[in-house]
Formats: sequence, C-alpha cells, structure tokens
Amino acid sequence: MATGDIAVARSVDALRQAVASWRARREPVGLVPTMGAIHDGHLALVRAARAGCERVVASLFVNPKQFAPSEDFTAYPRSEAADLAAFQRAGVDLVFIPDIAAMYPPGFATAIAVGGISEGLDGAFRPGHFAGVATVVAKLLLQCLPDAAYFGEKDYQQLMVVRRLARDLDIPVRIEGVATVREGDGLALSSRNAYLTPAERRIAPLLHRVLRDSAAALSRHPDSVAATLERGIAQLRAGGFAVDYLELRAAADLATMPRLSGPARLLAAVHLGRTRLIDNIAVVPD
Ligand code: AMP
Repeated sequence: MATGDIAVARSVDALRQAVASWRARREPVGLVPTMGAIHDGHLALVRAARAGCERVVASLFVNPKQFAPSEDFTAYPRSEAADLAAFQRAGVDLVFIPDIAAMYPPGFATAIAVGGISEGLDGAFRPGHFAGVATVVAKLLLQCLPDAAYFGEKDYQQLMVVRRLARDLDIPVRIEGVATVREGDGLALSSRNAYLTPAERRIAPLLHRVLRDSAAALSRHPDSVAATLERGIAQLRAGGFAVDYLELRAAADLATMPRLSGPARLLAAVHLGRTRLIDNIAVVPD
C-alpha cells in the first residue's frame, strides 16, 4: 500500500477501508480530485483541504470519458512518482490511483448528464466533456464519501457542474471552490501549460491580461458588454490566439448577462498552437 512514505490505494476497497478508519475516529475527510501532473494550483486545493479537514485524500486519474476522441488523452502528461512526492510534501494522507479497469469495469454503462449548466461555454466546444466529468466526480464522491471536496475556480464551469450534481443527487458532501493560482505574469497554472513552446509561453499571459482589462471596463461601464467582449476577442486574436469564446455570465448560475447587473464571471477559452487554454475572472459592478 505504501509508496515511499505516502499511502496509496489502487482499489475502491482500499480507499474505503482507510476512510472508514478515519470516520470511526470522527476525523473529517477532504477529497482533492486531480488528473495528475501536479502543480501549485492542485496544491492550493490540498492546502484548503488540510485547513478544512483532519484527513486529506487526493486522487490521480486521467479520466478517458472527459476527453473527446480528437483530444489529448494519450498525450496528457503523466508523472506519478513526482505527483506522489508533491502530495507527500503537501501533507496528503492517502492518494487514490484507480486504473481504468477499476473505474470503468467491462459492462460499465452509466453516464451522468447535468443539464443547463453543462451547456454553452466549454460544453458547446467539448461535446460530452461535462458528462465525463460528472460521471467520474460522482463516482469519486461515492467511492470516498468525503465530508468536503475541493475544486479550482480555474475550471469555473466544472465547479458549477459539480455543485449542481452534488445537490441534485443528494450526495452529502460540501463542495468547496478554491481561487485560481497564477504565475507571476498572470498565466493560470495548468498541466497543459507544459505543451506551450517558449514563444507561446511568452504570449500566453495575454489571456489573463485581456480578462483583467475587460473586467475592469465592464465594472466601469455595465452596459458595454457586447462592445467590451468584441474588443477583448479582437485583442486575443491580434495576440495570436484562436478564440473559442469570451463570455460574461452570472457568477451564481452561469446565466447569460447582456448587461453587468450583478456578480458575474468573465470566461474564456482559446487555442495557442496545439494547446487549449481556459481562464476566468470575477466581475462585479463598481
Ligand atoms: P486537473 O488535474 O486539471 O483536472 O485539475 C484538478 C483540480 O485542480 C480541478 O479542481 C482544477 O480546477 C484545479 N486546478 C487546476 N489548475 C488550478 C489553478 N491554477 N488554480 C487552482 N486550482 C486549479
């Protein structure tokens, strides 16, 4: 079970045994789901989990169901040994590493579709993605039965999908959102940043700059949504990005927002060479 000094569970039974022993001692358990290639954004979730719970489980699973056939499932960075070391340094108690057959045994036939919030934005550009996310997150929550589970605001729509899923299926877990961790130049940390060439890496922070400048303009001019988004898209294109979307949505439920009439989120997805980047930022009226 142990790899180095950190405990690893590769089966659902082993995970449940560990969690049950903590639960018997009334030690609250926090779950941090990840796909690995651990960076400081993931570790911010671990820190939040440690602050909120006595015990922390992190999961490492590159979920094939959330990748479309054209996407980067095979190429997705995998670095189990380094990930285990990072989790150990961060104080994770147990790492759950199921293989694909443990997660989706032959005959697996269930999919969870979260309506409404999964449509539009990334849902429109990555068909099936959020059903894959919802299915694996529901499984992880039911396998682990944590008191709280931690997700990054970096994937804001995903966080909203997971909140909806837990509420709709009465899964007794607190879903906690954690602020996005960024590089010094504003680029949101992401496992996919490893795909960027040095030239692309120099361009990439423009995404956050455009989000930040557009958010400031929207706060000052709540009626300027269409014009501000058009300008933002033009700036992204001029910088070298292909733009999937730049959209303003209500922060609470991702409803469309023709004018800035309350707490909102500005969300973007772009391509830079072969790398797809997403980011988002809070927008509030002045
Ligand atoms: P991933 O391994 O990319 O599936 O991400 C696992 C979790 O880490 C998700 O809840 C992400 O939203 C979160 N995450 C990824 N990057 C960041 C970041 N830069 N800041 C905060 N959380 C992040």
